[in-house]
Amino acid sequence: MKYCSQCGHSVIRKIPEGEELERFVCESCQTIHYQNPKVVAGSIPEWEDKILLCKRAIEPRYGLWTLPAGFMELGETLEQAAARETWEEAQARIDQLDLYLVCSLPHISQVYTLFRANLQDLNFAPGQESLEVKLFDESQIPWDQLAFPVIRQTLRHYFEDKAKKQFTLHVTEVERPPR
Ligand SMILES: [Zn+2]
Repeated sequence: MKYCSQCGHSVIRKIPEGEELERFVCESCQTIHYQNPKVVAGSIPEWEDKILLCKRAIEPRYGLWTLPAGFMELGETLEQAAARETWEEAQARIDQLDLYLVCSLPHISQVYTLFRANLQDLNFAPGQESLEVKLFDESQIPWDQLAFPVIRQTLRHYFEDKAKKQFTLHVTEVERPPR
């Protein structure tokens, strides 16, 4: 951040009085600009023994596979955000959303929330951000072509739980990937 969104003056980094962390503070109007993590919501759309994945048509990770997920909008619930992202990326309608995994990604200040969900029908198609949308059973998952570590982790848990025939909520984290 360079400029104050309130008055346009430049901002500096400093610890506001009575606080403990450095913030962007406007030198002119004194507004403290708090920055907080972003929430990503998405789904694992299920159809019989298969799940729906999307091949990304955007950077980062163009051409790799992911679950439909994206940033929450203002005024949405988590479930609404997950269903909207699933519609936007896969033109797929889901219901019966069941929170499955919450993952903190502190190095990029994001929190992922992923819901197991019932895919209502097979009328899915690539949305603007997808090249391809496809159902995969466990043996077909493109493990070496997944877009993000959190997606790999989610699918690992998912198929482990599926084998045990018991799905439980997972609260996890993904550290900065090693270079
Ligand atoms: Zn200002």
